[in-house]
Amino acid sequence: MTELRLEDVSKVYGADGTGTSALEDVDITVRDGEFFTLVGPSGCGKTTTLRTIAGFEAPTDGAIRFDGRGVAGVPPERRDVGVVFQSYALFPHMTVAENVGYGLRFREPPDGKTVDDRVTELLELVDLEGMGDRDPDQLSGGQRQRVALARALAPAPDLLLLDEPMSALDAQLRESLRRQVTRIQSELGITTVYVTHDQAEALAISDRLAVMHDGRVEQVGRPQEIYREPATRFVAEFVGDNNVFEGDARGRNGEYPQVAIDGETFSLAAIPDGTDRVTFCVRPGALSQAADHNRLPVTVETSEFLGETVRVNGRWNGRRIVLQLPDVPESDELTVGFAPDDAHVIDRD
Ligand code: ATP
Repeated sequence: MTELRLEDVSKVYGADGTGTSALEDVDITVRDGEFFTLVGPSGCGKTTTLRTIAGFEAPTDGAIRFDGRGVAGVPPERRDVGVVFQSYALFPHMTVAENVGYGLRFREPPDGKTVDDRVTELLELVDLEGMGDRDPDQLSGGQRQRVALARALAPAPDLLLLDEPMSALDAQLRESLRRQVTRIQSELGITTVYVTHDQAEALAISDRLAVMHDGRVEQVGRPQEIYREPATRFVAEFVGDNNVFEGDARGRNGEYPQVAIDGETFSLAAIPDGTDRVTFCVRPGALSQAADHNRLPVTVETSEFLGETVRVNGRWNGRRIVLQLPDVPESDELTVGFAPDDAHVIDRD
């Protein structure tokens, strides 16, 4: 099993390093056996990061290490990584079994197994037993991705790299494939790096994740940390659908430090010493009509019924506010508040 380290990895595309800067000082450690996700909007550098780990791109600067060993100059086929891409990329003229066995042309099956035994074992692992003789065009999209996963895993690689493997599938298939991928990953205990632009998916499936923006890592943490304690405004808005506020520190009023925004003061649980300008966020679900503290009037613009809850988009003093309420509001004007403990101060920006 393998620990993966990226040390200050930068990547500039184009000859002589004058083209697009895709990665800047990316520093990540993926622990042995971890399911680690790279998440961020289109163009933030997720795929480039994965391609440098796989060896399809060379970093312009920095180092990549598998279990402490630098892999600079090692070609992809000698890195012991299994890769699954967004598009199925199966060989159409080969059967399912031949596709899965393909990776074993260059590498002996593990544990002295025959190729046939290993292929059968992998098809069982991805719940496709008995389908080895089919052609790829006789499979559904979800089944094809499972074949691609079985092919990537057949040589028992040290690392599994998955680049948006579910993005071509409909919502229901995505969920079932997601469950299968996480089950297989934890069964095998293989160190895995998963790429997605879908923040909900990233929070749902990862042991830890890195939120990327403009070629940089904004924050690395467990899903709960990233969601509850975003380190930057970008993470707060991208991951948590948060309401972000900015104001001026105004000393204390009794128990709580105060922040002034447009002449109104708000109580927060804590503000780091020496902070004059305070940025904090409050999750939509923490703004409630029943809260006693920090009341603010909101003008409702739209309501979306989501089943268990209603997402309300509104404005307070011209600022966009998102609420998550138990019911559709009866009036376009309502007042909500938040507890001081529910405000999280963003300390890096
Ligand atoms: P997406 O979610 O859309 O796939 P991404 O987060 O994976 O995006 P990358 O594909 O890594 O982002 O791209 C990062 C940046 O590098 C973008 O600005 C992109 O245009 C640029 N880029 C990617 N590949 C190349 C290339 N081969 N040559 C030049 N620039 C590239």
